[in-house]
Amino acid sequence: MRIGIIGAGQLGQMLGFAAQELGDSCRFLDPSPSPPAAVAGEVIQAAFDDPDALAELAASSDVVTYEFENVPVAALLAITDQVPVYPPPDALHHAQDRLAEKRLFDLLDIPLPAYRDVTTAADLQQAAAEIGMPLVLKTRRLGYDGKGQLVVREPRFIASAIEQLGPVGLIAEQWVDFDFEVSAIGARNARGDVVIYPLTENRHADGILRQSRAPVENPRLTSLTETYITRLLAHLNYVGVLALELFVIGERLFANEFAPRVHNSGHWTIEGAVASQFTNHILAITGRELVLPELRGHAGMVNLIGAMPPADGLPGHARMHDYGKDPRPGRKLGHITVVARSVANRDCELAEIVDFVTESTMDSGPAP
Ligand code: AMP
Repeated sequence: MRIGIIGAGQLGQMLGFAAQELGDSCRFLDPSPSPPAAVAGEVIQAAFDDPDALAELAASSDVVTYEFENVPVAALLAITDQVPVYPPPDALHHAQDRLAEKRLFDLLDIPLPAYRDVTTAADLQQAAAEIGMPLVLKTRRLGYDGKGQLVVREPRFIASAIEQLGPVGLIAEQWVDFDFEVSAIGARNARGDVVIYPLTENRHADGILRQSRAPVENPRLTSLTETYITRLLAHLNYVGVLALELFVIGERLFANEFAPRVHNSGHWTIEGAVASQFTNHILAITGRELVLPELRGHAGMVNLIGAMPPADGLPGHARMHDYGKDPRPGRKLGHITVVARSVANRDCELAEIVDFVTESTMDSGPAP
């Protein structure tokens, strides 16, 4: 099939490779002159909401999908008469607005940290009185990788916090002193078949994902996350891959956010599962049978941020992915995956990789 992909970053690149393996072809829409996905298909170079470019992409595709969340929903709606667009634009609408997203979690009985809709300093004062401090103040829209958010620890910082992030719609969210963070990645096709990857543990620094490990061997947490993601997928009449991120405290889970797309915390699935999240996304949006994501071992992934290490000298059986981007501080340039027979071996190999990356690069971010 011919797949149109809005966005041609690394997620588009990995989707493109998965599509090629399945015998499908991809065409991308992206404003950058040489985006990472250019190695996996032709790129129409235009703004994401350029009506002519969207119409051209739609006309030459059997199905259109998107690889990042800031595509205007209106751009998707403009082509839904021409071509099926998956995941459904309504899912994107909810993911783009933290307030709509949190209300959806509430509606579906998915536990989440207490939150308040905030615009002014008086609103934040009121929210702080109700949900306590510290709290996390986040812009409702256009936040990613920790951008558009800050922690407010004391009442005296309320006015400056509003000034820093405003004047836009904001969310005040209870600070969660979590044990660790996890994500559940699931795929659903139009027939309603669902597959869910084993639970992944994620470590962030400065709001950016640094490492993932899977599977999290906790049956209670696994079954709860499966319940929550299945509810989301069914409610949204979802088609494609969706990632749900949650905080863990003891045996309890609190939803943070969901992404209506393939997700960085699922990159390990390329080597660590018999079918990757990219393969299942392509299978889902093209109306095919999904593949049960059986594991090949204990997987770990380290993001390469700001600088790439040399390709030779990688320890063990590690596999490095280079997105082909120009280095820039804080930029995700690639990742390294390991798959091991045991948790101990996996963690040992991950530690070696982190040392190797730290020593061989001038990593601009904190060590993973
Ligand atoms: P987000 O952009 O909402 O995914 O936030 C990025 C990262 O910031 C999360 O993965 C957490 O590590 C941290 N974070 C976000 N919200 C909270 C919260 N309410 N309490 C504690 N940490 C948070």
